[in-house]
This record gives sequence, C-alpha cells and structure tokens, in this order.
Amino acid sequence: MAKDLLKDIVALCKRRGFIFPGSEIYGGLANTWDYGPMGAELKNNVKREWWKYFIQARPDMVGLDSSILMHPKTWIASGHVEGFSDPLVECLACKKRFRGDQLLEEQVKISAVGMGLPEIGKTIKEKGVKCPECGHDKLAEPKKFNLMFSTQMGAVEGESLTVYLRPETAQGIFVNFNNVLNSTRIKLPFGIGQTGKSFRNEITPKQFIFRTREFEQMEIEYFVKPGTEDASFQEWVEYSKNWFFQLGIQPKNLAMREHDPKELAFYSKRTVDLEYRFPWGFGELVGIASRTDYDLKQHNLYAEEKLEYQDQITNEKFIPYVIEPSFGVDRAVLTFLLEAYQEEKLEERTRTVLKLHPRLAPVKIGIFALKRNAPELIEISSSLFRDFCPLWNVQLDNSGNIGKAYSRQDEIGTPFCVTVDFQTLSDKTVTVRSRDSMQQERISLDQIKNYFRENLD
Ligand code: ATP
Repeated sequence: MAKDLLKDIVALCKRRGFIFPGSEIYGGLANTWDYGPMGAELKNNVKREWWKYFIQARPDMVGLDSSILMHPKTWIASGHVEGFSDPLVECLACKKRFRGDQLLEEQVKISAVGMGLPEIGKTIKEKGVKCPECGHDKLAEPKKFNLMFSTQMGAVEGESLTVYLRPETAQGIFVNFNNVLNSTRIKLPFGIGQTGKSFRNEITPKQFIFRTREFEQMEIEYFVKPGTEDASFQEWVEYSKNWFFQLGIQPKNLAMREHDPKELAFYSKRTVDLEYRFPWGFGELVGIASRTDYDLKQHNLYAEEKLEYQDQITNEKFIPYVIEPSFGVDRAVLTFLLEAYQEEKLEERTRTVLKLHPRLAPVKIGIFALKRNAPELIEISSSLFRDFCPLWNVQLDNSGNIGKAYSRQDEIGTPFCVTVDFQTLSDKTVTVRSRDSMQQERISLDQIKNYFRENLD
C-alpha cells in the first residue's frame, strides 16, 4: 500500500508537470529529476514560505546567497576533505556499488553507527550480507568514498585549481561571518540563513527526490553566546517543527529523533533529526545540530581573517557557539506532496486531489468560462485573469469542459475555481468552487477579490 503511494505520486508528478525524470530524451541520467511548470511553482513556494518564516519574520535573522564554488581550503577547514565519506562496498560479481552501513541496516537490521570500516567489513562477512543486485555473497572490503564532486576552475591547463561543488550551503555562511557582521547592525544572538544547491556524490541515490546527487538546502547558522546554546537549541527544534505544522503537516507524521552519543561528531553537543513518515518508514527531513564553536574555530586555523565576536558593551571578544537547523528543499517538497495526496471515492468516480496548503499550491485559482463558443463569457473570464494575475498565480481555461477542468485543478492542488456562466451576465456573480469541500457558492464580481484575499493570503 505505502509503496504504491510513492508510485502514485511519481506518476502524478510526471502527468501534471511537477517532476520529470532528468535528461529523458537521452534515455535519462540515473536519479536526476527536473521540476516542471507545477513543480517549479511548488518548490519556489516552499522556499518563499521558509524565507518569510525563518528570515523575514525574525528581527534576529538575515539572509545570504553565497556561491557554490568556494576556496578549496574551506573544505579542508570544515573537515569535508578528510571526513565527508561513506563506506563503499563493491560486489565482486556484478561490480555494483553500495553503502556498507545501509546493507547492514537493510539486510540484518544492524546499525553501523560508530563502526569503523574494518568492523563494517567483518560484520558484512559474518552476517552473510549479499549483493542486493545479483544476490552474490562476494563483497569487497569497504572503502572510504568521499562524497564531494570535484572539478577544475580556470582556463589555463596546468594552472587550473581543483575546486569542489559545495556539499552543503552552511560553509558559505561561516566564511561570510565577518562580512555580515560588518555590513549590518545585527547583534548576538543572531542567525544567517540561505537556500541553494548542494551536491553529494551519493553512492546509492534513491526514493525519488529523497536522495539525489544534486539537491537544494535551506540552512541556518544561529550564533549564540556560549552557555546559552541549550535553550536556543530547544527553541529552534520547536520553531522548525511549527513551520511544517502551520503548512499542513500532521503532528503524527513528524517525529523527533535524538542522535545517539555514538552517532554525534566529536564537536557536536546534540543533534535532533525531524523525521517524516515517508512510505518506506520515517526518514530525515531536517537535521538540527548544536555545533559549539567548532566551525568558526576551524576557519580561524586556515583563513587569513579571524572570525570572532566583540561584545559592544563589555568589549569582550569570543567565538560564538552555533545552532544549525538544516532543511532539504526536495525532501520538504516530497513531504508536502505525500501529505496532500488523497484519493476520494465519490459516487461515480474516484477523484485524485492534492490538498496542499493554499500558500504552497502552485496555482491558486482556476478561471473558466462555462462554454467554449460564448464570447461574452470568455471576455469576463479573461478579464478576471488579467485582474488576478498580478496578485496570484492563476490559470485560465476557456475550453468549456468544466468537469475535466475541475479534475485537472484538483490534481495540481488548486484551492479555488471560478466559473463564469450565463447567470453572470444577468446578476454579475460567478460560481466559486472550493477544492476541499467541493462546495460551490455564488460570489458577486465586486466582492471576488476580497473573497480570495481572505481565503488565500
Ligand atoms: P542523510 O543521513 O539522509 O544522508 P544527512 O544527515 O547527511 O542526511 P545533512 O548533512 O544533515 O543530511 O543535510 C541536511 C539536510 O539536507 C537533510 O536533512 C536533507 O533534508 C537534505 N539532504 C541531505 N542529503 C541529501 C540528498 N542526497 N538528497 C536530498 N536531500 C538531501
């Protein structure tokens, strides 16, 4: 059942222009996905809602948009060059590659948290773990596989510089710590947030847009005075959960997973994952970590400038501690789609409907003329479109097949549809149909903008 839900979502996404397989006309490029017309709207709405809630609605937050390519020393300082790797295991028969820790979890329900490579290899052998692809039990010893994509920067051969596509947006925030402090009037505690692409050469990308090699993140570094980090951490966990709740995620589908001390990086005081009930089980949607002063201190070892904070009253200089809430855009999009997807049995048919929060819905209003060849109706529907489009993303459909138009709008999650009919000509009212209740009411043309202002914004 649950697995079918993902299949249904993937099919709907293709059918209605949310998400397409990448490079399809060339036979596809494994596990890459392109957002179509509806998907681009939905994803932009998710990012806009995040930005409004986490950056604009808080006086202690500012935004940033740093570059994907960064000085290679960044990734030495951050520990990614040395430590950002997964245990790669190759099948000696079919040559397919897997993550050793995932093989243990999936096949023998053993957590590899805290295990080194030799122990993972030993457990794989002892427990008779097999290649998930061909079933062979000859698996090579696990190897460290760095997840960063590298490329060459510069046009002159021999003089080009090896750089990495950033595996997280967070480091762009740390390296701009002084720039933000010097260009704003912000004072501790304060945070910097940004959204943007990240790249990880995942060994086994899977589950649609849940795990891909190119994805988008929405990350915050929230700087606090050492000693106040525990209370701040708790606030960020609550504030982050509420973002999902106010956009329609049911509390029963969101879980908090506290990281085991064995799982924690040595510098991390505490990490909590917000997990969503995906069709295959709970999976990470957001990671919230209390990272002490590790990142700023590491940059202080390698950079040419010192990253620190000076208290303007006491003149005391210190390195702030940081709380890092880190969201995945694509995982959030998938979460909202899963939560919204419903098949409702009606008298004569089953309707597929996306009950997306109106602020997330790609199209807010569908506008129809009841009949195709009725210029007086089309004139009014077209003028409504012109009137609404500066305010909301709306769609005009004058094809005259209202039943089909409703189905199409239900499937893309449009909260309201307006139909201009012959009664409109006499009493200047239109039919407004609500997606969720399927109820219709007549609203007068001079009230219609107010009606949507109240129900959409
Ligand atoms: P996972 O354990 O699932 O690999 P992670 O703990 O490595 O995730 P973080 O480094 O905490 O992930 O990244 C923060 C967020 O970025 C994650 O919570 C997730 O939403 C998103 N994210 C990370 N890796 C991917 C990926 N390969 N594809 C899509 N989103 C991702």
